[in-house]
Order: sequence, then C-alpha cells, then structure tokens
Amino acid sequence: MMQSEKRLWGEKPFHSLDYQWKEQYGGKVYRLSLQTGCTCPNRDGTLGERGCIFCSAGGSGDFAAPARLPVQEQIRRAKALVEGKLPKQGLAGYIGYFQSFTNTYGPVPRLREIFSEAMAEEDILGISIGTRPDCLPEEMVEMLGELNRRKPVTVELGLQTIHEKSAEFIRRGYGLPVFEDAVKRLKQAGLEVVVHVILGLPGETEEMMKETVSWIGDFRTPKGGIDGIKLQLLHILRGTDLGDLYLEDHGENAGKDRGRSGISRGICWNDYSLEEYVDLVIDLLEILPPEMTVHRITGDAPRKLLIAPLWSGDKKRVLNTFTRRFSERDTWQGKLYHSSIIGGKVYENRTGKMGPGAQGRALQNV
Ligand code: SF4
Repeated sequence: MMQSEKRLWGEKPFHSLDYQWKEQYGGKVYRLSLQTGCTCPNRDGTLGERGCIFCSAGGSGDFAAPARLPVQEQIRRAKALVEGKLPKQGLAGYIGYFQSFTNTYGPVPRLREIFSEAMAEEDILGISIGTRPDCLPEEMVEMLGELNRRKPVTVELGLQTIHEKSAEFIRRGYGLPVFEDAVKRLKQAGLEVVVHVILGLPGETEEMMKETVSWIGDFRTPKGGIDGIKLQLLHILRGTDLGDLYLEDHGENAGKDRGRSGISRGICWNDYSLEEYVDLVIDLLEILPPEMTVHRITGDAPRKLLIAPLWSGDKKRVLNTFTRRFSERDTWQGKLYHSSIIGGKVYENRTGKMGPGAQGRALQNV
C-alpha cells in the first residue's frame, strides 16, 4: 500500500478539532455544554423506552446545566465551569454545544428560538447540535440551514457503527439508509456534518471497526463528504442496560485492565487495555482522509458512573500514551489513506471488502 507524505496539524499527527478551530477562528475555542430540553424517540416510547443500550439517564451528555434554565443562563453557568481553563490571551470564543439527548426532536419554532438565542451572544462563534438522523424532517434541516447563514452550525449524528447486527444489539433504532439520506440533505443545506463512532462495541472485531471508519471516510454527497468524526471509546456506565450485562458477566473483575476478554453468555466483550485501544485508534486514523477533522479520540465519562474501562479516567496517561505510540510508530492521519473513488464511483473501501451499503456494486455516484 502506498504511504502519503508525513504531515502534522500544528504539533499533532492528526487533524484535530483544536487545529480546525485555530485555522477557522484564529485562536482557542471552548465548547459550552447546553441543553434544549428535548428527549429522545428511543426513550419516550416512540421507538423504545430504555434508550440505546449504553446510554445513561443523562442521554449521553452528563455535563450540562439543567435544561429548564433559559439559554443565556445556561451559557453563563457553562462559562463559569470552563473559566479556570481559559488561556490568558488568544481566546477566540465559544461553541454552544447541544449534546445530550436528541436536539432536533421537538417543534421547529421552539428549537429555532433556542438555537437563535444561543447564537445571539457575541462570543458564541457557532453552535453544534447532537441528534439522530431519523429526527431531521425537511423543515428542521431548512431551519438549520437558515441559521447556518448567520453563524456556523454543525450537526453531529450518532451512527456508532455501519454493521446492522451491532446496531441491533445497541438498539440504535434506524438503518444505514436513514443515515445516508440525512447526511445528503444536511450537506445539501450547507451544514457541517460530524459522525460519532463507538469503538469496542461487544461483538465487533477490529476489522469491523476499520470497515465503519473506512466507509465514513469514503462517503460522498454532491456537496462533499462527511466533515468530521468522533471516535469514542465504549464506556460502560452504571445505570445502563449494558452496564448491568457487563457487571453480571465480569463480577469482581469489572473494569480491570486485563486485556481482551473472551466470550461470556454469547457476548464477546472488547475489554481493551490502554495500549491496545491506543493502537486501534492509530490504525483507524491511518486510513482516514487527512482532511477529515477528528473531534475526539477517547471521550469523557462521568467518573461516578464509569464501570469500565477504569484507565480511561486518567486522561493524562491516555494522552501521553497516544503521543508515545504515534512517535514510536512514526505515523499520522491518512498515512494509509488512498481514495477508492474511481471514475466518479466508489467501488470498495480500503479494507479491500465491499462496505455493507455496497452490495456488490458501486456504493454511490459522487
Ligand atoms: S439516541 Fe442518543 S439520547 Fe437517545 S437513547 Fe440513544 S444515545 Fe441516548
């Protein structure tokens, strides 16, 4: 396989969000966690009541101020939380981040008001909205496209995996074609699209994760590809169905850094050690397009809820291990990337196998 030429983004061997923001806004940018108060169709009984198998009661966002507060007050409180971390100079501003639950699962006029209020603050540079692809009706996409003409709007979609068997296990509640359609419409409306992928889902092999990442890297619409990716380590949390299954299976070994575990009760757990996880992420970054922004390579879990892996709570150790392994492997994002788009059609992904959307033919016209 051909290697691309070595490159760095700032000091990092991958195209980080920090780097993108510095290029885009000329300084350091912080994210403020905000809430719309929307629930989720996977929790309110429309699709299900227990949510995705890994999702905590906070709806995959346990850090924001209460949703009942007006947006300005949420912003004030969120700023107070990051105050100690801010640089003395070089702060460009903030991104309002609506992370928890499904932030387009509500009436368009009410959501327009909430998002507009957040954007009205001068130092809010743009907003980022976490949602599901099956909660993006046409009028919602239109509204977001309209706001995007005022300040940048990013839409983050929790795909997690392209493999339908895993999607069923985690109770995601929508199929891959729904995701493809949503991305096309969001891109058509001029919005930036970021995709979340969970690494280490039970039953997934490294090859399967490579297929997911490779498929995302190759996905094209007439308005371009997916802009960013969030690689999120699977956190096993207390109070989730996945947490209960894990505790039943692991007993007193729960969370121990003991390397890959085997199959128990038919569930094949991926209990990565820190080193294994870091090498997996680096393998995935190598096959991503260099222009795709990497929003995250691990993820934060609320300490009081975290069952496993416990090493993920030591952020400094995790980041140091990334730095060391990147340097030992002398590698970078996109090192092994080569586009598989030939003559306007995507024929196969970089794992050499057809992606699940391919079904033995070209994936899509580009
Ligand atoms: S779609 Fe998001 S908020 Fe809803 S249950 Fe799944 S992870 Fe939780």
